[in-house]
Amino acid sequence: MPPRAISPSSRMRWPGARAGAAVFGIGGGPCRGSSHVSIDPSNHGTLSSPERDLRAATVDSSLLMAQWYHTDEKRLVTRGLSRHSVGVTPIVFHVWGSRGGRNTYGSRVGNSTSCYSLVYGEELFVFDAGHGLSALAKSLDDDQALHAVKRIHLLVTHAHMDHWEGIKDAEWMWRRGNGLELTLIGPAEALATIKHGHEPPAFVPLEVLAMGTLGKLVLHELRAGVKLALPGATLEAVALHHYSGIAPNRRYLETLGYRLSLAGGPTVAYLSDHEPTDATAAMEDAVLAGAQLAVIDANYADIAQHAFGHGSVEHASHLARRHRGTRLLTAHHGPTSSDDAIEEAVRRHAGDLDNVLVATEGTRLVWDAAGRRFTPS
Ligand SMILES: [Zn+2]
Ligand SMILES: [Zn+2]
Repeated sequence: MPPRAISPSSRMRWPGARAGAAVFGIGGGPCRGSSHVSIDPSNHGTLSSPERDLRAATVDSSLLMAQWYHTDEKRLVTRGLSRHSVGVTPIVFHVWGSRGGRNTYGSRVGNSTSCYSLVYGEELFVFDAGHGLSALAKSLDDDQALHAVKRIHLLVTHAHMDHWEGIKDAEWMWRRGNGLELTLIGPAEALATIKHGHEPPAFVPLEVLAMGTLGKLVLHELRAGVKLALPGATLEAVALHHYSGIAPNRRYLETLGYRLSLAGGPTVAYLSDHEPTDATAAMEDAVLAGAQLAVIDANYADIAQHAFGHGSVEHASHLARRHRGTRLLTAHHGPTSSDDAIEEAVRRHAGDLDNVLVATEGTRLVWDAAGRRFTPS
C-alpha cells in the first residue's frame, strides 16, 4: 500500500536536530549527505535544565506519551552487563519479517512485514524496518548472538510503509538509557517519509523518541551507485525497479537494493521490492555475484504475474540456478498468498535446487567461516 506522497528532498532537515545540536552541543558535525540527531547519553535519568527547555519547546500530547511509555532503568542494567560480558559472537543472519505489503495473521511462514538482520560482533546490520523489527529489538536480550550489539545500521529500501512501520515498535526507542547507536540509511524519499510519518498528530517525532533512550540517532541518505564504508563492512547500493499503481498512473519510488560485504566474512544481497525486467538482469547478476546469501522479492509465484513493482518465485529460482553458490531466500510473500501456495510455488520452480529456501520468520542461519557458507541452526 503506498504512503501519502512526500516530496523528496536532496538533504534531510530536522527542526528538532538543529535545536538538539544547539542545546546539547554534541559534536562531530553532519557528514555529507546525512542528517544527525545526537543524544547525549549523560542526560539519561533526571532531565537537565536544557533538556527540559527543549522538551518544553516541543511538548504536546505525543511527547507526554513518549515519556509515559519509556521503561525504567533496572532492565537496562541487566542488559548493559550482558553486553559487556560476552566474547566473540558468531555471525548470524535472522529472518524477523518476510511478509510483503501488510501484516497478516495465522501464517507459519510469516506474518510480519519485511525485516532481516546480520549481526557481526557489536555491529547489527538490518535490512528493512517492517513490523518484524519489534521481534528483532526484543531479541537483543534473548539471543546470545545479539548480546554484543552496540550499533544498529538500519538499511531501508524505500518509502512504502511496510518497510519502516516497525521503527516506532522497536524496544530500543523506548527503553531508557540503552545507549545503542542507531543509523537509518536509505534513499532521501524514504527518510523524508519516515520523518513525516512520525510527526504529530500521527505519532512522536523520532528525535523525541530517541531522547533519553538511544545513545545516538543518525539519518544517512544514500543514492544508487554509492559505496559506503560501515564499521566492519562495505555497503553498495543499486537502483531497483519498483512502483505502485497501474499504468499509466504508476508511481515510481526511489528504491535501493543492497550488497553488504563483511570484512573477511560473507556477502549478503538484498533485492526487495523489485520487479525484474530484461533491463535489470545484469544488475541482479552483479549484486548476487559471489554472495553467500541473497534475499529476493518473490511476492508472486510466476513471472507472468509480475506487477506493482514485484517479482516472483519463478524469477528468484532462475537467479538461484545461475548462482549455485548463493543460498537464496524467497521473500516478501504476497499478503494474500497462503503458506501452502508459497511452498508449492517453491517446489514447482525450485524443487531441483538445493540453494533455495522460503524466507520463514524465525529462520536463523549461522556463518560457517571454514565452509564459507551459511547453515541453518
Ligand atoms: Zn514492500
Ligand atoms: Zn514497496
